Amino acid sequence: MAKSDKKITPFAFDLEASDIATEKNRARDLRGSQWWKRRCAKGVCHWCAQPFPARELTMDHIVPLARGGKTTKSNVVPACKTCNTKKKQLLPMEWEAYVQSLRSHEKGEGDE
Ligand SMILES: [Zn+2]
Repeated sequence: MAKSDKKITPFAFDLEASDIATEKNRARDLRGSQWWKRRCAKGVCHWCAQPFPARELTMDHIVPLARGGKTTKSNVVPACKTCNTKKKQLLPMEWEAYVQSLRSHEKGEGDE
């Protein structure tokens, strides 16, 4: 009764290119929303907590689309170009270590 043609996927997320395209379209819509504009209007990068002009903030997926993340309000954050680029270059583990280092640095500063 074994199904010899059973598809075995080597990765946890077996994403169709069309799924990613759908999420990218959602991201484009969300980027045009008032909700997103308000988030960017705060002018703060989610990751490094540094101030930036709204136009310099980009939409970043906390869980990247390529890893099965979705375009939802809870999974997208404004990120500066530096953080966005870093996130793409680093491995997920390296990125988490980088975020941790940002967080610990942030704690020393006053909260306004
Ligand atoms: Zn940043």
